[in-house]
Amino acid sequence: NKFEQLGLNESLLLAIKDLGFENPSEVQEKAIPVLLEQNTDLVALAQTGTGKTAAFGFPLIQKIDAENRNTQALILSPTRELCLQITNEIKLYSKYIKGLHTVAVYGGASITEQAREVKRGAQIIVATPGRMQDMINRGLVNIKNIDFCILDEADEMLNMGFYDDICSILSDTPDEKNTWLFSATMPAEVARIAKQFMAEPKEITV
Ligand code: AMP
Repeated sequence: NKFEQLGLNESLLLAIKDLGFENPSEVQEKAIPVLLEQNTDLVALAQTGTGKTAAFGFPLIQKIDAENRNTQALILSPTRELCLQITNEIKLYSKYIKGLHTVAVYGGASITEQAREVKRGAQIIVATPGRMQDMINRGLVNIKNIDFCILDEADEMLNMGFYDDICSILSDTPDEKNTWLFSATMPAEVARIAKQFMAEPKEITV
């Protein structure tokens, strides 16, 4: 199995089998070994529908410590729909990993309920930038010790006017974390975020 050759563990391989994925997509083939083997920042140019959620989701899940309930990863995405979609995918991918919790944080729903879920112990938070900033401002979430930050559809987030929120959120995370940025295009604002917040990122294009 080609997923096995990428270095994924048994829990992920079982979930992948259940999902019926037979072969890794191009972005998965390029990103997964790099993200598994190296503590590196990554800029990946990839469109939606290329399997990019699994390209960052599989290595992320493998690197999370499920026995530690602290928040270890933040995934930022532009819309509520995408946020829920990513959360759903991550939950499917991690179904065989006991104790791994993923929470969706987005606007237009109860912030109290989302804060409760975060407080219960979620290693992975998938959030839209506006609501995430709101949670930080109210002291409802702590991302000061995260190991991973993923910016999904970075160009879309910036198109929607989230530049300030993204900068502010990233400033609240530790310098030592790894940042993985996925974007369909590389306009100046995306390049600026990469330059400002990432350290010698590896680059992948599909
Ligand atoms: P994404 O680009 O992450 O939104 O993924 C698009 C769709 O492709 C999702 O429904 C995934 O579940 C599916 N998918 C991701 N990777 C694979 C794969 N290797 N083989 C088959 N389907 C996949």
